Amino acid sequence: MLIKSLSVRNFRNIASADFIFDPKVNIFTGNNAQGKTNLCEAISLCFGKSFRSPKLSELLPFGSSESETSVEMCFTFDNMNEKENTILYTQKRGNVKLKFNGIEMKEAEKLYGALRYVLFIPEDLYIVKGDPATRRDYIDFVSNMINRVHNIKLYEYNKALRQKNNILMNMSGYDPSLGLMLESWNETIARLGVNIMCGRIKYFDMLAQAANEYYSMINGGNEILDMKYESTVMGDTSFTADDYEIMYERYIQRLKETAERELRMKYTVVGAHRDDVLFFINSMAAKDYASQGQIRSIAVALKLAEAKMITDKSGDVPVIILDDVLSELDAFRRGFIINHIENFQVFITSCNLADTDKFSEGRIWNVNGGKFELKEG
Ligand code: ATP
Ligand code: MG
Repeated sequence: MLIKSLSVRNFRNIASADFIFDPKVNIFTGNNAQGKTNLCEAISLCFGKSFRSPKLSELLPFGSSESETSVEMCFTFDNMNEKENTILYTQKRGNVKLKFNGIEMKEAEKLYGALRYVLFIPEDLYIVKGDPATRRDYIDFVSNMINRVHNIKLYEYNKALRQKNNILMNMSGYDPSLGLMLESWNETIARLGVNIMCGRIKYFDMLAQAANEYYSMINGGNEILDMKYESTVMGDTSFTADDYEIMYERYIQRLKETAERELRMKYTVVGAHRDDVLFFINSMAAKDYASQGQIRSIAVALKLAEAKMITDKSGDVPVIILDDVLSELDAFRRGFIINHIENFQVFITSCNLADTDKFSEGRIWNVNGGKFELKEG
C-alpha cells in the first residue's frame, strides 16, 4: 500500500497538520519531545490501534477546547488501479469511530488484513537484548501475522499450562490421583505445545533468511546474522514443522524426565513456553556480545524481514514506520536506511539526522512543537 496523504487534528501536541507523502521515503526530524512519535502514533490509529495503548482522554491536546481528535489517511492498495481510499479515525469523549471510504467499519479487522504496516520502536531492541519471553512474544507475533490460528493455539496452550501448574502448586508430595491428572494435562500440553512450536518454526527459516540478507545490506556485508530457534523439548535435534509425531513423543518424554523437578519447582520446566530465539553475529551470541549499533541493526533487519514476509505471503505490501531508528548507527548504516530500503514506502523519525547524511529521494520535514515544516529541495 501507499499512503498518499494524512490530516491530523487535535492529536496530542499536534493541533493541525497536513501531509502529502513521498511514495518512497519520508523523514521527520527534530529535537526531543516535538511530536515525531505522536505522528507515528496518529498513523497507527488509522490501522486500527495505537501502539501506545493510551487512555483516549489523553489524545486531545492538553488544555484544548476542542472535543474531537481526528486522523484522515488517503491511500491506495498498490494493485487496485491507483484508486484512492480513505480511512477516517475520530475519537470524541472516548467514543472511537473508523470510517472506510465514508462507511463506518464494524469489522475493521477484515480491512486490516489488507492494510498492513510494520513498525520499529526503540522498545523493539529488547527483542535482541531482553529476556526470552520478549523473543517468544515476538516470534509468536510474527507467526500469528502469517497464520491467525497461532494465537488461538497459544491461548489454549497457556490455559492448559496454568491448569497444570495450579495442580503442581497445590500438591504436597506425590498423590496418585493428582498424578493421573497431571499425565492427562501433559498430553494436552504436548499436543498444543507441538502446535505452537510448529507454528513458530514454519516460517522461521524464511524470517531468518530475510533478516540475514537485510542485516548484510545494513552493514555492507562485513557481518553475518544467524538466528536459531532453541527448543527445550528437542534440544540439539534438528526438526521441521513436518516432524509433528516425533516432536509429540519427545515432548511427552521430556515432561516425564522433568516430572520430579516440576514437583519441586511447582511449575512446568520444559516446553514451548520456555523456548528461545538466539541471534548470532559472526557466530557470537548477540545477547552477550553485540554492540548497541549491532543490536539496533538486528532489530531493523528483523522488521524489514517481517515486511518482506508479509509481502511474499499475502501479496499486501506494508508501509514501514521506523521511529527513532537512526541513533547509534554509523553513517553507512544510516545511509542504507535512508536511501536503500527498496520496494516499501518508509516513514523515518530522527532527532539526530546529521548534516552529512545524504538523502537521495524523498521528503523531509522539520518538527517543532507539534508543527511540521516541509524542507524544500
Ligand atoms: P523524542 O525524540 O524524544 O522521541 P518526539 O518528537 O518523538 O521526541 P513525542 O513522543 O511525539 O516526541 O511527544 C511530543 C510531546 O507531546 C511530548 O512532550 C508529550 O508530552 C506531548 N504530549 C503527549 N500527549 C499530549 C497531549 N494530549 N497534549 C499535548 N501534548 C502532548
Ligand atoms: Mg519519539
